[in-house]
Amino acid sequence: MSLLYDISRTITPSLAVWPGDAPFSFEHALRTSDGASVNLTTLTLSAHTGSHADAPYHVAGDGAHPADLPLDPYLGPAHLVTITRQHGGIVPADFAGHDLAGVERLLIHTWVSDLPDEQWPDDFPYPTVELIDWLAAQGGVLLGLDCPSVDRFDSQDLPCHHRLYQYGMVNLETLRFAGVPDGRYELIALPLKLGGVCGSPVRAVLRSLA
Ligand SMILES: [Zn+2]
Repeated sequence: MSLLYDISRTITPSLAVWPGDAPFSFEHALRTSDGASVNLTTLTLSAHTGSHADAPYHVAGDGAHPADLPLDPYLGPAHLVTITRQHGGIVPADFAGHDLAGVERLLIHTWVSDLPDEQWPDDFPYPTVELIDWLAAQGGVLLGLDCPSVDRFDSQDLPCHHRLYQYGMVNLETLRFAGVPDGRYELIALPLKLGGVCGSPVRAVLRSLA
């Protein structure tokens, strides 16, 4: 029987968000405790809340919105690999000893997965263009991180976001791999069918293959 691992952050008002971004909040439009027939809540959130998919529109004015994205990259075989790098740029050498030939979806497990939902990861490790090029050469379609960005925290030119976009690859950020063994899985992490915006939260899971 296959096992299902939830690799999503929990979205509550205390979830850490990118510094300056809108925190998640909600309010009740209706309450059963006030005599209404239903509880009805209204959400306020950034498109990059918790575990999420970036849409190309995030970095390109003519880029696609979540509703326009092909879904195939977000479903299918994935490799989860833990790396020991604590900070700085993640390069192919960080995966030495792992057989990743032909990897389609690479999920990178770092120390950031161990942080509680409320804590922002200062000085997180981040992919490099070299890593994106290497993944593309394997036939990669998706890069998934537990870190909150595919670029350095203070990057302004966002080289890895743009490189992924050039290759037609997609990325997931702020996943959580704590307690999930390294290995091969089926990834399921569909963006919501949102028009006009630059990303979407996902409910991301890994299903074991055995
Ligand atoms: Zn993002």
